[in-house]
Amino acid sequence: MNEQMWRAIVDCDPAYDGQFYYGLQTTGIFCKPSCRSKTPNPENVRIFLTTGDAKKAGLRPCKRCRPEEPFRLTSEEELAQKAAAFLTQHCHQPLSLQQIAAELFVSPYHLQRCFQKVMGVSPAKFLLRKRLKAAQHLLGNTQESITTIALQVGFQSSSHFSAVFHKETGCSPTAYRQCQSQGTKKPTASL
Ligand SMILES: [Zn+2]
Repeated sequence: MNEQMWRAIVDCDPAYDGQFYYGLQTTGIFCKPSCRSKTPNPENVRIFLTTGDAKKAGLRPCKRCRPEEPFRLTSEEELAQKAAAFLTQHCHQPLSLQQIAAELFVSPYHLQRCFQKVMGVSPAKFLLRKRLKAAQHLLGNTQESITTIALQVGFQSSSHFSAVFHKETGCSPTAYRQCQSQGTKKPTASL
């Protein structure tokens, strides 16, 4: 399992549905990445590319997310998933709605409307959450400066990054890092 797959499972990210399945030897079931069941212990997770492989390994399909149901998407869902995958892949660089829409050959208005309807958040908010999660990971696990992290996760400046981080999580990047390094409980709202 790679980091990207693990993030998809933790985030219950529907953009990855159909790309892989994950099984748990402990429960004997397998799920789609978007399954809303409890986040598993990564040590128990096994990745499968098809439902057939999961069943061959002796696992049963989850009753909640029904991984075997035919994968039929409406055009709106398909567009939203493509956009989500694009945003996830390119979240480390500056992106505008116009750019993403052009990439997917639709109008910005149509993209905005479909994405909001299917994903429950705007593309901008979705992107922001990806960036802040990436930033939290870097703050907690590296010694990089706030400025470097801001640029790395796709913000144009560290002051903008700090302001947004504070607004969304309730604490500054520096305070977040200090809490992480002291091993105290996460001070921030979950994103
Ligand atoms: Zn499931």
